[in-house]
Amino acid sequence: MAKSKFDYVRQFEIDDPCLPNCWIVIRIDGKGFHKFTEAHNYMKPNDERGLGLMSCAAQRVMNEFKEIVLAYGQSDEYSFVFHKNCQVFNRRASKIMTNVVSLFASSFTMYWPRYFNTQELQYPPAFDARVVLYPSDENLTDYLSWRQADCHINNLYNTCFWKLVQEKGLSPAQSEARLRGTLSSDKNELLFSEFNINYNNIPELYRKGSVLIRNKELNGPEKTMTSNNEDKTRYSKSEQKKALASCLVLHCDIIRKKFWEEHPYILS
Ligand code: ATP
Ligand code: ATP
Ligand code: MG
Ligand code: MG
Ligand code: MG
Ligand code: MG
Repeated sequence: MAKSKFDYVRQFEIDDPCLPNCWIVIRIDGKGFHKFTEAHNYMKPNDERGLGLMSCAAQRVMNEFKEIVLAYGQSDEYSFVFHKNCQVFNRRASKIMTNVVSLFASSFTMYWPRYFNTQELQYPPAFDARVVLYPSDENLTDYLSWRQADCHINNLYNTCFWKLVQEKGLSPAQSEARLRGTLSSDKNELLFSEFNINYNNIPELYRKGSVLIRNKELNGPEKTMTSNNEDKTRYSKSEQKKALASCLVLHCDIIRKKFWEEHPYILS
């Protein structure tokens, strides 16, 4: 390509590679979803359609970027974990982040009618995004634990808050005042004594959020051998491709070590 005299301005662009060997986490979060969920008549505290749509958009992102090993979502946020050795876009931070967040937002919009059939989308939703690098497996699993703990704390609070508003007729301000300074144990007790709700019986989707992982059956590095050492579980390229495209959606605990022991291939 012939160079123009304007070409020098490219030098003003800065390269922003992610440090090698670090897990790359992209977290996206809905902009002003407090208002967005009200404007779209979300059920409170948890609208299943909204959560389903978030996971659908996240799966679309995982299908596009095969280097994502796991995604975790709750409320209006999703975190995507890219493998520490991935080379996507030469690990350019802004390139990865903007591609993920724009694909997420366009998927959220495109699949909206599937989840909200009669509720029309009132205005285009936006999402913010950030890139965070984690140098060790422990930092990464602690990051995910942090997001799941946040899900739990918010959900416990929101469950109490909306019960007081919807069933006891408190105003939002009164409900907030009633909950100010309470501990988790107080909130559990409030739900049990005043609403006969055992918090542990609330759906795991709400309490734990959503964990998207690749299909283990076809994706695990270890193939079980039969007794005559014949590899019976070797999959064709197309089968592997299909497995990479399909995700498992779990609503399980990822704070305890057990999850990582049961799915060692995720971080391998
Ligand atoms: P910001 O732009 O700073 O992120 P925000 O209004 O989006 O502002 P968040 O802290 O991200 O603030 O909170 C998300 C809001 O969206 C919360 O009020 C939460 O209850 C609501 N929300 C998200 N998903 C759902 C859902 N599936 N059902 C009901 N409410 C939801
Ligand atoms: P990348 O993901 O690297 O940006 P790309 O395929 O988008 O890959 P670009 O260099 O951005 O590559 O080029 C954009 C392409 O889209 C060009 O092939 C251009 O001709 C085509 N294109 C964009 N807008 C139009 C348009 N309005 N009409 C016809 N072609 C268009
Ligand atoms: Mg935010
Ligand atoms: Mg938000
Ligand atoms: Mg949020
Ligand atoms: Mg382009």
